[in-house]
Amino acid sequence: MAPRPRRQTGPQPLRSPVPLNAAAGVDSPLTVLYGVGPENAAKFKRLGLNTLRDVLLYFPRRYDDYSRMKTINRLEYGEECTVIGTITESHQRRIRGGQSTLFKVVLSDATGMLEISFFNQPWLAQQLTTGKQVVVSGRVDQYLGRLTLVPDEWEYLDRELLNTGRIVPVYRLTSGVLQRGLRKVTAQVVQYWARKMPDALPAEMVQRAGLLSYGEALAHIHFPDNGAALEAAKHRLAFDELLLLQLGVMRQRKEWQSANGQPLAVPDDWLSSFAGSLPYALTHAQQRALADVRADMGRNVPMNRLLQGDVGSGKTAVAAAAMAVAAQAGAQSALMAPTSILAEQHYKTLLRLLSAEGSVHAERAESSAGRLLPPAFRLLQGSTPASEKEEIYAGLRSGAVKVVVGTHALIEAPVEFASLGLVVVDEQHRFGVAQRAALRGKGAAAAQGGGPHLLVMTATPIPRTLALTVYGDLDLSVLDEMPPGRQPITTHILHANERERGFAFIRSQIHKGRQAFVIFPLVEESEKIEAKAAVDEHARLQKEVFPEFKLGLLHGRMRADEKDDVMTRFRAGEYHLLVSTSVVEVGVDVPNATVILIEGANRFGLAQLHQFRGRVGRGEHPSTCLLVSDAFNPRADERLLAMEQSQDGFVLAEKDLDLRGPGDFLGTRQSGFAGLRMAKLSDMKTIEKARREAHLLFERDPELKAPEHQAIAENLARFWTPGAGDVS
Ligand code: ADP
Ligand code: MG
Repeated sequence: MAPRPRRQTGPQPLRSPVPLNAAAGVDSPLTVLYGVGPENAAKFKRLGLNTLRDVLLYFPRRYDDYSRMKTINRLEYGEECTVIGTITESHQRRIRGGQSTLFKVVLSDATGMLEISFFNQPWLAQQLTTGKQVVVSGRVDQYLGRLTLVPDEWEYLDRELLNTGRIVPVYRLTSGVLQRGLRKVTAQVVQYWARKMPDALPAEMVQRAGLLSYGEALAHIHFPDNGAALEAAKHRLAFDELLLLQLGVMRQRKEWQSANGQPLAVPDDWLSSFAGSLPYALTHAQQRALADVRADMGRNVPMNRLLQGDVGSGKTAVAAAAMAVAAQAGAQSALMAPTSILAEQHYKTLLRLLSAEGSVHAERAESSAGRLLPPAFRLLQGSTPASEKEEIYAGLRSGAVKVVVGTHALIEAPVEFASLGLVVVDEQHRFGVAQRAALRGKGAAAAQGGGPHLLVMTATPIPRTLALTVYGDLDLSVLDEMPPGRQPITTHILHANERERGFAFIRSQIHKGRQAFVIFPLVEESEKIEAKAAVDEHARLQKEVFPEFKLGLLHGRMRADEKDDVMTRFRAGEYHLLVSTSVVEVGVDVPNATVILIEGANRFGLAQLHQFRGRVGRGEHPSTCLLVSDAFNPRADERLLAMEQSQDGFVLAEKDLDLRGPGDFLGTRQSGFAGLRMAKLSDMKTIEKARREAHLLFERDPELKAPEHQAIAENLARFWTPGAGDVS
């Protein structure tokens, strides 16, 4: 018979055996613990657990609240839950022409039965065999009128911990370390050491902010007495991280504000004549942003500005103007893009904008020949031939090259500038705090007379509150207005078996003279496999679906010049349709393209879907975005529904943050926010509180010199060390 979940009145206290040496310091090796010998210790080492402190700081990945688990008859559609049961049936088969596997089990408890499907995990057939008792958590879904469970996690039933009736921590494991074994170790360490951990925060701050003490928080984060204690522990640990984040951001801000900058000033009439030379009138938002940028650049403090604007809001023109200002004032500038396609596109756009006939540069060209044309204006990227690279490096050193556009190969290579006055970084979410600091450092070293001005452009709209926290080291300009004449984009969700309708629509648009994108999902974490899938799909579409049209293909394994060639042809209308992997994601501009069909849309994040969609609706024609999902019920997907309902990047960004949490949203790794393990950037209350306390502390002791602030200073250094806290 399957076990029944039980409710208990209260948790039982931890009762771990007394360790061999309960008086050992927290930096002792794990072998001081009861039941941990050298062999076990070596296994824990693989999880990065060398000392007792490491164990205390190895926070659970999630918790199983065994006292609140549900029986199968009480499950409700759509809820996240954990179910215990016995496997009573299992069945494996191949689907999608043998490319995928589907493993189905029936889980039974005393109250009912539940079907659970696992895709592409054929090995489970050996593990989830009939008769096994397991705990499965996931989301309750519906299929053909029956409830099913879409599994997130499963493990074999662990009676011992179940019987304790508490909220049980679930840790990330590695081979050879079992959940049960790790819990035993953690329980010992928590019981004898957690509350001895000193609190880095001054007592008055802890009190004012209504926080648990550090030791209590560590104890309850592993083995919480109840839900409220767990929340309080998370709150305290999140507060600590946010405080360090704020302190770091404030310190960076102070640092650059006290640095010397090179004032790059231009006269009014020059600027208005430059604006007049552009192929279009700047929007009000662009004008405001440009005014901000110009004012910043004119000061002797380096600019640190974030230019935020939804896809298609026209950030490039603002960047171009800033670069023109720098050149006019006699300084070099560099623009960095996350991909080579984008770098190349920027290069061409800037070339068009900066060398436009009648532009100020033509005038200026009379006095200083061909200022912003090649060879003074160059594209530098990983694939640039070595000889040309050397030539560009030499030009940057001597000052002959005025403007350089490139990928981040730009900062990795040993590039020196004669007088770097401005750095523009595109697509901020791919660059992090660390890279920003590196850039500033490089600029400061490279630029005579002080650090360069920095303009960061982001196409991922970040909710303002979040921007203040995460980019608090930057000033903010927002392009909240689209260039005139933009056509709306209509978005439809299609089930995979309605794909033909999407193709028919694409066909009708191409017959009207428009162009289309088909985006192919990242099937694997490997560019190689992804490229192959795209190659196959391109061939199939060309042969079987659109034999009458010319189809281009773009994927990440192509050489930069090949990609460039394809994009150029597509833009020139030589291809009717472009099949692409996610490399086309950002920034690519083809105004005649009016349909984008995204395959496997359910596998992309909301921000990325919004970016893809931004590839259309850039011209005078109304556009359409087709989201093809291979989920059972595509309309149950909140992200896809949000895409259908809104075209506003800010609305979608808030939604994305809600659904995914900040880690994924910001790309934790890249952004240098690996230190945020507990903090939720959607938790505005805690963020505000941490900001308040950080300001108080910073006002009183900006250098953290006071003895009572030593522990904070040390934590701060650790928090901002690249790679620290990045356990896996
Ligand atoms: P993003 O902010 O996404 O980088 P872009 O800079 O690529 O946007 O601009 C999107 C499109 O809008 C481009 O085709 C550009 O030429 C056009 N554009 C930019 N500013 C204006 C404007 N003020 N008026 C008309 N078109 C504009
Ligand atoms: Mg752009």
